Amino acid sequence: MKVTVLGSGTSHGVPMIGCDCDVCTSTDPRNKRFRPSIMVTNGDYNILVDTTPELRMQSLALGLRRVDAVLITHTHADHVMGLDDLRRFNDLADAEIPVFGMAEHLADIRRIYPYIFVETQKGGGKPRVSLHELRGDLQLGGMAVSNMQVLHGRISVTSYRFEAQRPDGSVGALAYVTDVSKIPEETMAGLRNLDVLILDAVRFEPHPTHFGLYQALDVIKELAPRHAYLTHLSHNFEHSEVNAMLPPGIELSYDGLSFEV
Ligand SMILES: [Zn+2]
Ligand SMILES: [Zn+2]
Ligand SMILES: [Zn+2]
Repeated sequence: MKVTVLGSGTSHGVPMIGCDCDVCTSTDPRNKRFRPSIMVTNGDYNILVDTTPELRMQSLALGLRRVDAVLITHTHADHVMGLDDLRRFNDLADAEIPVFGMAEHLADIRRIYPYIFVETQKGGGKPRVSLHELRGDLQLGGMAVSNMQVLHGRISVTSYRFEAQRPDGSVGALAYVTDVSKIPEETMAGLRNLDVLILDAVRFEPHPTHFGLYQALDVIKELAPRHAYLTHLSHNFEHSEVNAMLPPGIELSYDGLSFEV
């Protein structure tokens, strides 16, 4: 599997509107953060996790041409407001795109995008998507995809674990755990034995609906993945400064980061 970080930023993005801080005005591209999303690729099969308001910009920046399936973590604006941009991927593949999520999140998508799911005039542009409620594990493009719930303040967010066989027969495992302030015990159990964990850390201090850096580091210590990347990053984190102080095997992610699992 190959993972590409399409966006590593918090809901405001970085730079943030109307902020002149050192990070928001930095010229280091790793301090420029689109809203959070990843692409997980196996062979030529691409799973997109969340459709951010910047999906078009992310796709152009990385030359994306193919999306085979979409997984939704939850329906806050920073995670779903780019769903309409899937139209280009429908056109490029001449195919409908399946979108997977919890029933309550799919209901939100129907409510946010009513025009997609009703008959409209011919020629009107809208994405061709089919909504699929998550029930158990999925097999997508040679990847086993399991889902688990975490708490984001009081709301439930879906985390995903991806496993695929490597050419040598061993299995690579990755998990994407964003927008989390508490991980229930049963989800912690599902996050063990990972090669890579991508985890929410919005700022240094604790936050009511996200992990702060030190809570994230405690969880990483307990789960002991081989490698961990932090995401959903705010302008509180100057990339090279914060990266240099992180323990070995833990790094800030950045837009365009790509790695093999
Ligand atoms: Zn978010
Ligand atoms: Zn700033
Ligand atoms: Zn959220």
